[in-house]
Amino acid sequence: MDPHQIELSREIIIGNEAYQEFPSILDKLDLKGPALLLCDEKTFDVAGAEVKETLEREGYSVEKMVCKDVTQEELDKIKGNAGRFRFVLGVGGGRIIDTAKYVGTEKSVPYISVPTAPSHDGIASSRATINKEDRRYSYKADAPIGIVADLGVIKNAPPELISAGCGDLISNVTAVEDWKLGAKDNGEYYSDYAAALSVLSAEMVMSSSGLIKDRKERGIRNLVKALISAGIAMSIAGSSRPCSGADHQFSHALDYIAEDPDNHGIQCAMGSLLSAAMHGMDFNKLKKSMRELGIPTEVSETSFTVDEALQAWEEAGSIRDRYTVLDVSDEDTKSLFKRVGLI
Ligand SMILES: [Zn+2]
Repeated sequence: MDPHQIELSREIIIGNEAYQEFPSILDKLDLKGPALLLCDEKTFDVAGAEVKETLEREGYSVEKMVCKDVTQEELDKIKGNAGRFRFVLGVGGGRIIDTAKYVGTEKSVPYISVPTAPSHDGIASSRATINKEDRRYSYKADAPIGIVADLGVIKNAPPELISAGCGDLISNVTAVEDWKLGAKDNGEYYSDYAAALSVLSAEMVMSSSGLIKDRKERGIRNLVKALISAGIAMSIAGSSRPCSGADHQFSHALDYIAEDPDNHGIQCAMGSLLSAAMHGMDFNKLKKSMRELGIPTEVSETSFTVDEALQAWEEAGSIRDRYTVLDVSDEDTKSLFKRVGLI
């Protein structure tokens, strides 16, 4: 096979009071100049203010920019500004970190991922999802040069965001099965190592469900490490294949179709149940973990409707050019939803 590049973060700090480590990390990374801090109003209060103060105490100049809806217009404005800075800090959830990724990559400015919630596996990955003309696009970005995850902040994230992060990881189990299928039927490149790391990340959250649910530090630490490991699995694979299959296509389809989509990770976990059943796997094992982790296992517990969910599964196969179980099975959608108990 052709050589491919594996891009990884250089400095990763996970722990309580992690923001206090910023000066030493920046020193190691030789990042001295002015910083652009991207956040939303909430994440500035829970984390951004402390990060800004810590850096300013050390003599850094930090400009805060509050992102609202991250529209194309807002992205262009941030991009137009970013060239003046030596590095970017993305302090927030998926949307903010993806904005930092996009802007940092476009302007060739290194960025540091500062997650405030364990809601998605994009903390360490080199892929960003960006809104463009009312659609969401997956964008190949640089990996963050550093990750600073303060467990004290992350532990207090809203419960649905913690469940969403677990759901994003649970879907790795079926994404890997889809990937195997792509390798078998289409001769796609497949990495045993990336696949094993991705499945391990899912297994870690499933086996830590009690600790995560009770917000024990060990549980939240395992979850954050699993999210970062999933990002690393994608870097090793050189694509999102280890963590995104029919499960994610279902979620992307729901994002277009549903009037009020639910969290990404929640939708992915539900898609994973459907995918597992189609693959002939034991979907009840996934379902049990989902329940333990507070992830809905019935459409009625989510913000979207049954009709929207059925339509999303029907259209999931055409949402992107990726070979999955949707290409090899034609089980009736409604019967499948009933079989796994989603309706
Ligand atoms: Zn995901």
